[in-house]
Parts: sequence; C-alpha cells; structure tokens
Amino acid sequence: MKISQVVVLGAGSAGLMTALTLKRRLPQLQLRVVRSKDIGIIGVGEGTTAVFPRHFFEFLKIKPQSFYLEAKPTWKLGIRFLWGPTDFLYTFAYEFEKRQPELARNNGFYYDPAQPWFGNASAYMAHDRVFPRTPEGMPRFHNNHAFHIENVLFVGWLENRCREEGIQITDATVTAEPGPQGVGALITETGERITGDLYIDASGFRSELLGQLLKEPFRSYTDTLFCDRAVVGGWKRAANEPIKPYTVVETMNCGWAWQIDHEHHINRGYVYSSSFLSDDEAREEFLRKNPRVPADKTRVVKYRSGRYERSWVGNVVAVGNSAGFVEPLEATALQVICVEASTLADTLADSLMEPPPTLIQLYNRYNGDQWDDIRNFLAVHYRFNTRLNTPFWKACQNDVALHGAEPIVDFYRENGPSVVAGITLVHASNSFRMDGFLAMLVGQQVPHQKPYIIPPAEQEFWRRRRQQLVLDAHQGMTSEQAISALRRPDVRWG
Ligand SMILES: Cc1cc2nc3c(=O)[nH]c(=O)nc-3n(C[C@H](O)[C@H](O)[C@H](O)COP(=O)(O)OP(=O)(O)OC[C@H]3O[C@@H](n4cnc5c(N)ncnc54)[C@H](O)[C@@H]3O)c2cc1C
Repeated sequence: MKISQVVVLGAGSAGLMTALTLKRRLPQLQLRVVRSKDIGIIGVGEGTTAVFPRHFFEFLKIKPQSFYLEAKPTWKLGIRFLWGPTDFLYTFAYEFEKRQPELARNNGFYYDPAQPWFGNASAYMAHDRVFPRTPEGMPRFHNNHAFHIENVLFVGWLENRCREEGIQITDATVTAEPGPQGVGALITETGERITGDLYIDASGFRSELLGQLLKEPFRSYTDTLFCDRAVVGGWKRAANEPIKPYTVVETMNCGWAWQIDHEHHINRGYVYSSSFLSDDEAREEFLRKNPRVPADKTRVVKYRSGRYERSWVGNVVAVGNSAGFVEPLEATALQVICVEASTLADTLADSLMEPPPTLIQLYNRYNGDQWDDIRNFLAVHYRFNTRLNTPFWKACQNDVALHGAEPIVDFYRENGPSVVAGITLVHASNSFRMDGFLAMLVGQQVPHQKPYIIPPAEQEFWRRRRQQLVLDAHQGMTSEQAISALRRPDVRWG
C-alpha cells in the first residue's frame, strides 16, 4: 500500500523530530501527531552528539536562528571523563586516529595524560574555550561541536517548527486498536478513531504500539550495562560560574554522574545500578557530591537498557525510547533518533512510498546495529574504568560483556592505538569510529604490547605543537562570549 498518511504517537523529542524530518523530506505526506498532556514527556536528555547539528542544519536545512533563540543551547565540544587512572578528554574531532604528515604514526601513540590535547578541539576543551574568534569578534563556527539543550525547551522549539510545517498536533490519550497490518486505529478518550497508513510509535518507555500491542521481543543489554536508574537534580548557575563547553562525566560509587552547563542552569544526574545501591543511598551520595542541589528538587528516573528485536513491524515503526534505550553516558539518544528518522525518510523516498520487505528488513538491521554499536562502545567504558574499587566497579571490571567490542580490544592489546584496521573492525555507520574506541582505551590507559618510545625529534614536534595549540586556544572565545556575540543586534543569520 502506498503510504500517504502518517500518524505519530507521542510528542517528545522522538515523535516531533520524526514528524519534522518526514515532513521536510517528504512534503507530500500528511502527518498528524497525537500526544497526551496527562502522560507528558520524559523531561530529561540534555546532551547531543555532533550528528545532531548536521541532521537539523544540513540534512533538514533548518535555519539555526530560531533554534538559538528558542532552545537556548550551549555548545558541547566533547566529554571530560573523570575516569580511569587520570582524567581525559573525548572530542567529536576524531583526533586519536589522525596522523600528522611529519610523523610515522597516528596521534594515539603520542598521548600524554599531562597534556591530553592533539588538536584544536581538545586544546579548546582543555582551556574552556569553544570557538575561534573572527576579526569582527564573532564565533567562527566549526563542524565538531554538539549541544547541551534542556529537553523541555528543545521540545517546545520542535513543536513550533512542526506547526510551521503544517503538521497537525492533537492532545489526547489514546489506546491502540489492532488491525490486519498491526495497528487498526488509535482511539481517543472521546471515541475518535485516528487512522493512517503508517504509525510511528514515539510513546517513550511505554512503547504502546511496538511493545504493548505487537509484543515484539525485547533484547536486554543488562549483561553489559548494569545501571538502571538515575537521580536527577541541578542548581541555578551563578553569574560568575563559567559555562563549560563540554559534559563532565564522573565516576561514582555505583555508576557515574554527568554535569551539563546550560546558560542559566547546571544539570546533574547520577546513573546507578539498583542491584548495588538503593534510591535513598544514591540520592545521599548525589547530594553529598552536589551540595548546591536542593534536596527536595531531585527525582529518580527508572529505565531498562536494551532494544526491541525489530523496530519496524507491519505498519508500526518505533523511534526513540519506545524502540530502545541506553543510558546517556555518550548522550546518544537524540543521535539515534536522527538516524532512525532520516533512514525512515530515505526508505520511504527510495521505495516511492511503498517499502518492500527487503528494505524493511534492512532498515531493521541497520537500526538494530546502531543500538548494538552504542552498547559495545559503552562496554569499553565500564570494563576498563579502574578509578574506584567498589563492589560495583569490581563487578564491571570482571563481568561486563564486551560483545562486538571484543575484537577491537583484542586488536588494541596486541597492536596499541593503531588505526590500521579501524575500518574493518568498526562498522562504516558507527559514528564513534575506531577513534572513539582509541580515545577510551588510551584515555583509560589500558595496557598493550606495543608501547612506543617516542624519539626525541618527535617529542620536540609535539612540545611545539601542543604549545601552539594552547596559544591558539587562549585566543578563542568562551561559551559566555560566544552567546553574547550571537545576541548582538547587528548579527546577520545565514
Ligand atoms: C536519565 C536520562 C538522561 C538522559 N540524557 C540524555 C542525553 O543527555 N542525551 C540524549 O540524547 N538523550 C538522553 N536521554 C534520552 C532522551 O531523554 C530520550 O531518548 C528522548 O528525549 C526521546 O524521548 P521520547 O520522545 O522517546 O519519549 P518521551 O519524552 O517520554 O515522549 C513520549 C510521548 O508519548 C506520549 N504518549 C505516550 N503514551 C501515550 C498515549 N497512550 N496516548 C497519547 N500519547 C502518549 C507522551 O505524552 C509523550 O508526548 C536521557 C534519558 C534519561 C532517562
């Protein structure tokens, strides 16, 4: 059947991003979003990866001005890990796999924990700068950044863009009626039957259509990811408190905590395992670490890690939390939604709106791989973090299943941070690439059999290069400076 009417169940980031993506790419589609104000949205999810700006501003060609004005993002150059023997940086600039033309080996071999920067992205991060400065005092944007955005503001911005595109949004709590293809209709409390040719299940953890109605089997990731809860809180940013252009990820007794700096607010969250810690103990540890968080303003969010076997079944395609979930250690949920939504749009376009079984199978394989790739990457974070010796971290070091990361770790143990086989070991669609694995393995100082004694001439090269990178970084803009430059009345938006 030719698909012309699409019904989206849910208006969190997953539902609205998918609706907007489909409408921008396939304007002939009729789209209707149904959401329950009583159920609401998840209201957490503050970090993105660099896939996010590419999706909105390059693939969908949305002008960034309204995003900056309404969603009020800050910029994220990467993650500062308080993890392993010494703190380290992970950027979106693929710096570990790069090779300087003057040197024989890729950057990973020249890592120095005391000066953990190889290029502009990491040097800027290490010195709390975000963009180079143009002669006019404006930020010179680059492609290696992501964002920090408050979920509620982001969803508000998405809703405005959807309405501009003519997408109908209906407030109703619905139940699903089965039909020959899977879903027959969504029924509102007043008895209205909402029907379409394709149903997008973006109902969050409830997974109303894929999980509850169609009973698609769930593939759990708990042999790798032991955490299943987060306690979340934050405080108002003081005027003199810098806005860090990166997420901080800090090892905690039974998991880890994030810190995300927004313009007016600092957001913290402790992701932990309920098998090792009660909610009250987690809250206590969280508040001890963060005395500025008001104790009565914390909340606990429960989740399970894993994904459904298939996300497209019959006339239902699940996106976002209703298709799968992994904890935000690499802040990947919005990235997955970008990939799900753009792949769906391309699948519909290429099949002239009549997707055959081969394309649907491929869609399911591709999206399943996305989730599994993230699980594999996170496995390396848990298995090799030696910072604490608590029962939780000992269990991680002993028992975390590496799955698809196993051959990468074996290769690294024999060959060190070599990028030679990267393309073979890591899927072409894996956004972390071999670089991400090297950043985590080198950053955590995982031992290998090929330690490199850097010859004096190469040491001298890096001494000069690192010094120059520091000088360049000091010329750059802080987040506060870049935000106020963008608000100047003479700014012209491209
Ligand atoms: C602790 C935590 C931290 C996170 N941090 C990050 C992060 O840093 N970066 C990142 O990318 N992601 C993060 N995420 C994930 C991110 O929040 C979500 O993946 C993302 O916002 C997508 O949510 P969603 O739209 O799938 O679900 P939701 O926001 O829950 O939306 C579900 C929608 O479905 C509607 N709905 C459900 N049932 C019905 C019904 N019967 N009738 C009508 N409407 C219905 C609801 O009203 C709502 O509109 C985090 C998640 C958690 C739990």
